[in-house]
Amino acid sequence: MGAAETPFHEAPPANGGASLLKKAGDWARNRLLLAAASAVMLGTFLYAPGVVSAFDKTWSALRMLSIQSSPSEDLLIVKIDTRSLRAAGVWPWPRERYATAINNLRDAGADLIAFDVDFSAASNTADDTLLKEAIDARPGSVVMPTFVQRDGDFENKPLETIANTAIFGGVNVSLDADGKVRTYHRGYWAGDRYQQSMGGVLAGAAYGDTSSFLLDYGVRLDEIDRISFEDIYRGDFNDSLVRGRHVLIGATALELGDTFVTPNSPAMPGVFVHALGYENLLSGRTLLQLSRPIIIGIGLLALVLMWPRQGPIDMRQLATMHGLVLVSVILLPFGVQMIAPVSLDLGVVIFAQALSGWAAVRQEMNRRSAEIVRQREDHLSFIAMHDAENGLPNRRAMLQRIDEQLALHRPENVHVIVLGVDRFATLRGAIGYARTTEVVQQCATYLQSGIEGAEVFYLSTSVFGLLFAGGESPAGEWVRSGLPEFDTRFDDANYNIDLILRSGGASADFEGADGEQLLERASVALDEARQSGRSHVAFRDIKNPDPRVQLALVSDIGRGLELGEFSVVYQPKRSTRDSSITGAEALLRWKHLELGAIRPDRFIPVAEETGAIGRLTRWSLEKAIEDQAYLRDMGVSMTISVNLSARLLSDQRFCEETIGLIWRKKADICLEITETAVIDNPRQAMASIAAFKDAAVKISIDDYGAGLSSLMYMKQISANELKLDRALFDQIRTSRRDQTIVRSTVALAHSLGMTVVAEGIEDEATKQIVTELGCDLIQGYCVSKPMQVTDLAVFVASRSKPRQQANVGAA
Ligand code: C2E
Ligand code: CA
Ligand code: CA
Repeated sequence: MGAAETPFHEAPPANGGASLLKKAGDWARNRLLLAAASAVMLGTFLYAPGVVSAFDKTWSALRMLSIQSSPSEDLLIVKIDTRSLRAAGVWPWPRERYATAINNLRDAGADLIAFDVDFSAASNTADDTLLKEAIDARPGSVVMPTFVQRDGDFENKPLETIANTAIFGGVNVSLDADGKVRTYHRGYWAGDRYQQSMGGVLAGAAYGDTSSFLLDYGVRLDEIDRISFEDIYRGDFNDSLVRGRHVLIGATALELGDTFVTPNSPAMPGVFVHALGYENLLSGRTLLQLSRPIIIGIGLLALVLMWPRQGPIDMRQLATMHGLVLVSVILLPFGVQMIAPVSLDLGVVIFAQALSGWAAVRQEMNRRSAEIVRQREDHLSFIAMHDAENGLPNRRAMLQRIDEQLALHRPENVHVIVLGVDRFATLRGAIGYARTTEVVQQCATYLQSGIEGAEVFYLSTSVFGLLFAGGESPAGEWVRSGLPEFDTRFDDANYNIDLILRSGGASADFEGADGEQLLERASVALDEARQSGRSHVAFRDIKNPDPRVQLALVSDIGRGLELGEFSVVYQPKRSTRDSSITGAEALLRWKHLELGAIRPDRFIPVAEETGAIGRLTRWSLEKAIEDQAYLRDMGVSMTISVNLSARLLSDQRFCEETIGLIWRKKADICLEITETAVIDNPRQAMASIAAFKDAAVKISIDDYGAGLSSLMYMKQISANELKLDRALFDQIRTSRRDQTIVRSTVALAHSLGMTVVAEGIEDEATKQIVTELGCDLIQGYCVSKPMQVTDLAVFVASRSKPRQQANVGAA
């Protein structure tokens, strides 16, 4: 239908605020990415032994377990095992045993004979001589261990007297931070002497090469031939086991304690570590690792590639992407290591993935809750601007539209005609609500399409409003003498309805015309038409327009003020953080001489309607300022909030006087305003709010969530406080959706620098929830009912005493 096409369901422009917010969002996003990038660098640099490397090490150990290879057949290990220890009966052994072993091995055709046994101390001369002779028998065929002490340069070397024709092999093993052996050195410098490692000597590493590599534990060590020392000593072995091979002799008996922790084993004898180093060197499986800068580079690249882009995120797609990346990070190093001796340690990618995944989920969650709030607001602002029953744009929409048109056109070209349906109640009684609504809708459609240039609104039950703007239409003429005749019969199978329409018209060609006044004039004209039984009346033709002022009530309120029937009570706001009382709201009370107490809900609307609200508010403000001074004298200082009616916010003179008053008294006042004030007259309201803020008067947005609520306005107003109406908490205990709305609203309000007050909280459970949802202050019966200022002073004073005393007082 035509009328619904008018643009009133659209959100008001908020471009300045929105783009600023977007910029802030971009900035925050970039900052987050920067923080994540720093985290990756830190993660790889400083905390290498942490999460990232834990993954890398575990995965590398698993790779080695599954990518296995056979050892060369060039090595024989001679075990100093429990059996040979028992046979000898003493430890350290007489060196005669080693001499005999060397001779036996050599006789059997061994190539190099290497010892991982300590020979640095002298034993008895006879034995030492035997050993020396065995070594010297073929110079350069025996490798003796040398060991640099951990704490310094001191080197445990075999005695010169025994070993001057032996080769030295370093048996130092470097341990990782976790105490495990992962790397092996080809050699090292001991002072100015180059020393090959044991594995390096056996494999013939190049002189001066001190590089290290990742030990590949995938070599099947159990396939290396081994034999007990005892058998060698006794010559009880097959020569073929020894011929042409290097022989490595070392302790395997656990009781000798010469073991290391490796990624795959809790106790590997040192001799096997050297055997593994030798095998790796021999087969070229000395695993290369990526250098730190490359790893960081990969991490950063992964981070940038996976970092969430702006806009909605498809969670399933996100999960798929992360799944794929995860699988490739796990499989790729596996494939690479199978074909080349490279250990690709990509834990950093997983680290980057976790960071960007977290960022993506966070971004999407925020977007979703913002979306829920936006949808709800769109809905609310639609409701605010449309009739609930027939969906036509309503009176508020028309007021806004008139003001828009007045800003665009010359006032004499803006016209309003108000159309009333006669005997509407009778019609409704006859055909029912539903059918009546349909008729109203049909009528609106007709007016929209059949009357040139008309924008159609539904002002109240049975009253349409037509707005014309611009010079082209004959609307000026219609305002004077009524709309052209049109067919007012709406037929269908059952009914034949002929509407009787009357109209009143007004043009904006008067001093200070605005939406309210123009509509008021047209309505007065319609009333006149009804009363005088004419079908159309133009406002300018009315002789004595009835100002329709409720004089009786105005004088009643005025009289009440003079007789002191009004008073102000205060309701405290309590901090959820530390339970302190930070402020109180001033609430008017009227004790009518004859009628008794009249609730503000009843007299405030009347005061607003009749204009008495200005006096009333002025009075309560003065009272609040006076009471604030009293409280200060009592040692209690707090902000006092005063309610400001929507109507007064667009009253420039009132606002100026209010600022003057607050300024003169140096009062700490917060003005509570509802959003309707802003929606109905945004320009003037914004100007007043800006003036208040300039004068250091605080602004609070009242009743947020009760009716129309738009965060759009919140952004524009930049108020100090947002009061969430109790309507938002009705179902808070059971509704996840309501919780989301409150949480998101609180988050947005906080990001705009506002304090959030939860209003009308009565019970502990709700208080608990709103506290958890992030509300800063609570106002409601669970804190206190509104009270006299003297009671407020006592209330605050008793609460600031130590807890125990306060409890006693309350009991
Ligand atoms: P409001 O500004 O939303 O004020 C809060 C109302 O909720 C007060 O009602 C207060 O007594 C009530 N209330 C507070 N805690 C609870 C609670 O836990 N449960 C329930 N059920 N109600 C709670 P009150 O005093 O009757 O005022 C009603 C409305 O009248 C106010 O709503 C405000 O819009 C208006 N009003 C009151 N004083 C003034 C005034 O000086 N100037 C103007 N313009 N409006 C006023
Ligand atoms: Ca209030
Ligand atoms: Ca309120």
